[in-house]
Amino acid sequence: MDKFEEKIDELNQMSEEDKNSALNQMNEDCICPICPTYNECAKEADELLFCVTGKSKTCITKERGCLCPTCPFAQEYKIGVKYNFYCTRGTELEQR
Ligand code: SF4
Ligand code: SF4
Repeated sequence: MDKFEEKIDELNQMSEEDKNSALNQMNEDCICPICPTYNECAKEADELLFCVTGKSKTCITKERGCLCPTCPFAQEYKIGVKYNFYCTRGTELEQR
């Protein structure tokens, strides 16, 4: 199990409340809002951290480049390079 898988495992074992607060903290490292693919709809819906939570529900459908490879969260957990465009293609684990 790599560091990212361990993190997801850890999240899955948390209570709903602890999980939400951990996700909120992780959201702070997500640089999706400055990516050209991100849009107003996703911003209004507070969509972030697609690598963990999954595709954009309905907002993001067009890929215009992906900043995930340069994201501090991605670098810490060694993701974002082989797989990215999480907002349109699904989580890191779904893409593996
Ligand atoms: S890897 Fe991409 S989706 Fe995940 S936190 Fe970073 S910018 Fe957001
Ligand atoms: S997942 Fe990648 S492509 Fe989608 S908004 Fe975030 S940085 Fe951009």
